[in-house]
Amino acid sequence: MTSVVSYEIVSNVGVIKVNSPPVNALSQAVREGILNAVQAAQNDASEAIVLMCEGRTFIAGADITEFGKPPMEPSLPAVLGALENSSKLVIAAIHGTALGGGFETALACHYRCAIPSAKVGLPEVKLGLLPGAGGTQRVPRIAGVKAALDMITAGDPIAAAKACDMGLIDEVLTGDDLQAAAVAYAQDLLESGALLKRVRDITIDPASIEPGFFDAYRKQVAKRARGQIAQDRIISCVEAAATLPMDEGLEVERKLFTELVTSPQSKAMRHAFFAEREAAKIKGLPKDTTVRDIKKVAIIGGGTMGGGIAMCFANVGIPVVMVEINDEALERGLGIIRKNYSITVKKGRMTEADMDKRMALISGTTDYATLGDVDLAIEAVFENPDIKKEVFAKLDAACKPGAILATNTSYQDVNMIAEATKRPQDVVGMHFFSPANVMKLLEVVRGEKTADDVLATVMQLGKKIGKVCALSRVCYGFIGNRMLTGYGRQAHMLLLDGATPTQVDAAAEKFGMAMGPLAVGDLAGLDIGYKARQARTDVVHDPRTHCIATALVEMGRMGQKTGAGYYKYDAATRARQADPEVEALIKQKAEELGIKQREISEEEIVDRLFFPLINEGALILEEGIAQRPGDIDVVYLYGYGFPVAKGGPMFYADQVGLKKVYDRICEFRDTQGADFWQPAPLLEKLAKEGKTFAEWARESA
Ligand code: NAD
Repeated sequence: MTSVVSYEIVSNVGVIKVNSPPVNALSQAVREGILNAVQAAQNDASEAIVLMCEGRTFIAGADITEFGKPPMEPSLPAVLGALENSSKLVIAAIHGTALGGGFETALACHYRCAIPSAKVGLPEVKLGLLPGAGGTQRVPRIAGVKAALDMITAGDPIAAAKACDMGLIDEVLTGDDLQAAAVAYAQDLLESGALLKRVRDITIDPASIEPGFFDAYRKQVAKRARGQIAQDRIISCVEAAATLPMDEGLEVERKLFTELVTSPQSKAMRHAFFAEREAAKIKGLPKDTTVRDIKKVAIIGGGTMGGGIAMCFANVGIPVVMVEINDEALERGLGIIRKNYSITVKKGRMTEADMDKRMALISGTTDYATLGDVDLAIEAVFENPDIKKEVFAKLDAACKPGAILATNTSYQDVNMIAEATKRPQDVVGMHFFSPANVMKLLEVVRGEKTADDVLATVMQLGKKIGKVCALSRVCYGFIGNRMLTGYGRQAHMLLLDGATPTQVDAAAEKFGMAMGPLAVGDLAGLDIGYKARQARTDVVHDPRTHCIATALVEMGRMGQKTGAGYYKYDAATRARQADPEVEALIKQKAEELGIKQREISEEEIVDRLFFPLINEGALILEEGIAQRPGDIDVVYLYGYGFPVAKGGPMFYADQVGLKKVYDRICEFRDTQGADFWQPAPLLEKLAKEGKTFAEWARESA
């Protein structure tokens, strides 16, 4: 048929097999191969047709490398039309994951069977898209409108058994041999006189949908969509499925798909998808770099971070030993982990047995001498350089040669920590984010002497524990926290200039941030920044960047934990509320500093919050702290709640245009002073050349 699709008759069944590694994506060759095979099968001795795949999965989706290129024949709808209109029964036989266009292909077949471990799903929404090959029309016809909306707006895969309950799969197969089981199922269907069941022939009964259902669903979804438009368009498509004939519904789907595929949001989300994969690759590291075997991990410090990090390893079956200063601290640390797991059990997201299994993998000690058998030690003790150096000297003495010694420090110099050992090549930063068992980002910090295989090991391990990794070289705050400085500073200065906390946070949240900067401060605790400022005696802290925050802490308003910070918090619901006392404090501080307050526009808030991220990001790139602009985006998307529909700060900068960003930064420099705004040379250069960060990355790759 083609080199990636074969066809043969097995007994009385024509078997079409796709073999296009790694995931049998619907490339032009695959589409053409399937189409040719279905056409050939119409006139041969076969009585039914099975469509299946070789390798690790059924068709796992469209070939997204073809996005944005001129369409190539045959189109997917043409292939699906041939399957659906076949004069012989067509049965999709699914293993692995039938996702996106892959599942839509299966939906165009007359019957679907799957092995128990198979999953099906329509994840397009995660790329800011909708299933554009009939998925929004066929799923509601089979599973009903509500189930279809839940499935397509969330985009998560569904296990075979559940898909069978929903009617999306007709038969869950048994046995290890997919082809044999699928052929037998096809023969059973033939024997029972099964009809050519075309999903397009099903009509949804309008009476089955409550009046106002779609509007209510729209409102509910908008709350969690954070400004993304794909969910809304999916609802429109499903509404069309419920109210229009199939071909008209398909037209609506095509039109809205085209709108989304060319939208800046989807471009941003596709960028994020590729950036995440790219970030895991370390430039210049030989492909065959061997990795070290990590069978047991020690976590030093069982506080906020240590506990979460321990859970990450226990969750994937790696034994962990937690080291604390005394039995009491150890008990407290282990107790918090147990409590966290039991909350998950209570919510029904984990079984008691699973919790016991994970807890059994976590042990505790106060004795460093027992760490001789660990392959990796991760230090998460107090953020104090002397304590860290002492801990690393002890680890150096206790751990076997070849063990990796990692630090979770947020700000300390990894090179300095490495020098506290006799094996700086084995020392690396593993910067987790709080809560460490939840947040996806892991910044891997490369010290001057960190060995290649240590980096490769940590990158691979990060993936194993479900993290998205990005590499940073050593600087104060690494990529993420270093960039945050200007963002936090501007949030504070905006208050002095006349914006209220509610205005600042609302503008950031409308932009798409999970939470505005001042609300984040309240959540984390304003005392953290306060203590950090006190500890950092090497720099002069301008009162304009912290005077309100400092006053709040001194008033006992540490944030959510004390019921008040920039806002007041409802004791029961934790809902935030503007507080006139804070507004008065802000006015008073502005007066003390001689700042004349004024109305601040939403646009100014957005530019002043996000342009510092871009500017610092440009410095980070020129200094070689980050490998690529996309890595910076990954850090912000997974560690700081930056909206995926904007692709990350550097992608956002390219969309806005670097000239505009540069000009605005110059304008702010002229009004606020060069202490706060100094355009990065790289930004200036690219702005003047009319280039983007993406172009710069390609040229300097
Ligand atoms: P924490 O105060 O909650 O916990 C620190 C723990 O370390 C305490 O339980 C303490 O008893 C223990 N400890 C102190 N000295 C020790 C020693 N010599 N041996 C063994 N245990 C010792 O602190 P945290 O918030 O978990 O932060 C830990 C590290 O993680 C810091 O370096 C911090 O900068 C970094 N970090 C924190 C966050 C965050 O949001 N909290 C995020 C990323 C990184």
